[in-house]
Amino acid sequence: MPSLDELLSAVEGYRNEMVEALTEMLRIPAIGPESGGEGEFERARYVRELAEKCGFEDVENFDALDERVRLRSRPNMTLKRKGNSEQTVWIVSHMDTVPPGDLDAWTHPPFSPKVVDGKLYGLGAEDNGQSLIGSLFAARVLNEMGITPERSMALAIVSDEEMGSDKGIKFMIKEGVFRQNDFIYVPDFGEADGSLIEVAEKHILWLKINVKGKQTHASTPEKGINATRIGNEMANFLSDYMHEKYAANDPMFSPGISTFEPTKRLQTVGNVNTIPAEDTFYMDFRILPRYDPDEVLETVRNVARMFEDRSGVKVTIDIEQFTKSGKPSSTESIGLMSLASAIKKVKGVDATPKGVGGGTCANYFRLAGLDAYAWETVDECAHSVNEYCKVDNMVTDSKVFATLLGYLCYNIQ
Ligand SMILES: [Zn+2]
Repeated sequence: MPSLDELLSAVEGYRNEMVEALTEMLRIPAIGPESGGEGEFERARYVRELAEKCGFEDVENFDALDERVRLRSRPNMTLKRKGNSEQTVWIVSHMDTVPPGDLDAWTHPPFSPKVVDGKLYGLGAEDNGQSLIGSLFAARVLNEMGITPERSMALAIVSDEEMGSDKGIKFMIKEGVFRQNDFIYVPDFGEADGSLIEVAEKHILWLKINVKGKQTHASTPEKGINATRIGNEMANFLSDYMHEKYAANDPMFSPGISTFEPTKRLQTVGNVNTIPAEDTFYMDFRILPRYDPDEVLETVRNVARMFEDRSGVKVTIDIEQFTKSGKPSSTESIGLMSLASAIKKVKGVDATPKGVGGGTCANYFRLAGLDAYAWETVDECAHSVNEYCKVDNMVTDSKVFATLLGYLCYNIQ
């Protein structure tokens, strides 16, 4: 059995090959049909080739049917090295990307990846190519030992992450790919110093609130009902009242409280001297997972009724987005501690478990009752023009993955 240091230098030895592999992969577009793309099929073919090169013989496909793409398939796959135990350590990454947006704004063309000053530019370089390639090569050095692991070692490489995961992670969860006591890592979220391990999310609730009053001349407001006045009152009341009613502060989150913010607002009347009959405002709620978001929504409806009774307005509430968060992943598990100590070993960084405002694809696992940890080292340039990944981040994170797999699958300390 090689030592941990030998594993890490083996990963380092693959630095150039990792850059080549990521470059090749990013040349192949993998954009979902909602954004006018043909999906991930071609890219998946390349990943399968790469998987073989990285020593995975057991590749299983979980293609999801999708009539919207020419080949009608959204490819997902598992690459597995069976261990003595069925319990499996997963690293999950996604192939798909968002569309490039305004091509003229890219000074480094999105589909012609290139390294400049240690940064590999290209659409999907950071999100999620860096971790896909990094985890593949981490597994490669372990595969090359030719030893049967204790726990099974596996990568899940999926489609459709950017548009909701129905044809990706959610599909695979339904297929029963992941089991209750498996270890699940989703390197699709992180910070520039690699100090954040995401373990929980707030519920997200976006509301559109429409207030109908009665129009009149602004010089005689008593003849109408000023919808904007009531709308203002209601937005402020809601914001204050919700903060009071759902006041818990959880230091694992930043900010630690639930937030209830009035945001977008539609135009009312086009002139100054008319009392508006209608006012529409939006609120963005981020609710700590301890609260029941359905109950929060019921509170908003009650407040609306109170305003209707008090002011004679009619209030309509539409839900623009409602994403419930699953149970926070355990912060005392072997899974979390192993990741934290791998990060410490390789990077010298003390990583801490945190909750975020939402949302990562780790949440789909949590909603299914599975603990999942999101971690990677990124400059957070996903979805922006001139997206890049730092080659050093890819290689160093790959060493963290190799260490983690070494710990959990092979007992290499
Ligand atoms: Zn991503």
